Amino acid sequence: MMEHFPADRAAALLRLETFGPRMGPDYARGRNSDLGPGRRQDVSRLSPAIRHRLVTEAEVVGTALHLHGPERAQKFIEEVFWRSYWKGFLELRPALWDSYRSGLAQDLARLEAEPALQAAHARAVAGATGIDAFDAWMRELQESGWLHNHARMWFASIWIFTLRLPWTLGADLFLRHLLDADAASNTLSWRWVAGLHTAGKPYVARAENIRRFTDGRFDPVGLEEDPPPPPAPPPIPPQPLVPVPPLPEGPVALLLHEDDMHPESLLPPGLAVGAIAGLAVPRARSPLGCAPMAERHAWQVMADGLERAGRHCNAPAVALAPEAVAGWALDHGLPVVTPQAPVGWTATALRELGVPLHVARRDWDAACWPAATKGYFAFRERIPAWLRELAPSPPSA
Ligand SMILES: Cc1cc2nc3c(=O)[nH]c(=O)nc-3n(C[C@H](O)[C@H](O)[C@H](O)COP(=O)(O)OP(=O)(O)OC[C@H]3O[C@@H](n4cnc5c(N)ncnc54)[C@H](O)[C@@H]3O)c2cc1C
Repeated sequence: MMEHFPADRAAALLRLETFGPRMGPDYARGRNSDLGPGRRQDVSRLSPAIRHRLVTEAEVVGTALHLHGPERAQKFIEEVFWRSYWKGFLELRPALWDSYRSGLAQDLARLEAEPALQAAHARAVAGATGIDAFDAWMRELQESGWLHNHARMWFASIWIFTLRLPWTLGADLFLRHLLDADAASNTLSWRWVAGLHTAGKPYVARAENIRRFTDGRFDPVGLEEDPPPPPAPPPIPPQPLVPVPPLPEGPVALLLHEDDMHPESLLPPGLAVGAIAGLAVPRARSPLGCAPMAERHAWQVMADGLERAGRHCNAPAVALAPEAVAGWALDHGLPVVTPQAPVGWTATALRELGVPLHVARRDWDAACWPAATKGYFAFRERIPAWLRELAPSPPSA
């Protein structure tokens, strides 16, 4: 059975409505179990929507609060804030993205030059390692573009410690296939599993744990459960969050992109929008491009965002290739406003356009990101204050 994931706001809202009643104790109890396709009602499977902000973090957390209150929905709310933590952590340390990309380039070159590494990598990617769980997740990743969170943790751990493959190649494989591929959550989660985030503390997948939390679907053999300590690179200190100047008073042109597809809640009410364009560069997520299913998802998200933006702002909305954006900006002559693209491939593409951009940063990001200076537990302490300050509420439409 194949899982299906929301690729437009209407489908995301429907999923949110269906999953809402389970955001309380059901989630806390069941979220670590991966019972397999068709039996995953204890997790939302909303990440392919949230990652593109077809629904915003505020709407998802607002739904949980509305239906369950802060205590009963605490676990779910904390997981959504993991996303904000990772986004902030990378935003304050953009060098981690650059070093991931240069490490990946080196490891791709090693793959060309080292036949033994090439053979081990090819076996893993073909799902032919003989480790039943890993081979099944590899197929699922490639066929559906999604994996359960616990499966991602086990998968990454087996990739690194049992198959002894470079973590950058695993992170790249995820980015090319995941519908929710996200520079911060993916890169930093792989680093966390590898023991590079919390220095010297890798996440080690254990056969017993996999058997237990997959309801006995798998019985993996040959796992390395006692790996040597990973290297401990010196931590990168956070830099202050770059401030964004106030938006022009209007009229403006709006440049949408994959990282924020809810224009209805982005701009101050009353700001006149004269033209809208959308930019998606899903193939830029990896030097190897991206899987057709993931690319299709990105374009479906974009088409839906443009259609809603056009209706909301009563302005023409078009999808553009990067090389056409400068001409579009010149033609209408309006200041161009764009949602902030956090560190990642879209932010790089926007910088390379050569068009002056006015950045709209959401209150959610402005509140959370500067707090990602240390570990998640220090960050998490601030959630109650953010809930009071940001007052998230369920979607209104
Ligand atoms: C190695 C690895 C790679 C990952 N790569 C990505 C990625 O590229 N994109 C991505 O969105 N998530 C990534 N995650 C985080 C997490 O696995 C997914 O967000 C989660 O599985 C999505 O399923 P869900 O929507 O059912 O989550 P739920 O459990 O229903 O949680 C609700 C939402 O909270 C957020 N969330 C939950 N857990 C996490 C987490 N640990 N980290 C960050 N956000 C979280 C997501 O937006 C999710 O949709 C990765 C985790 C690991 C271990």
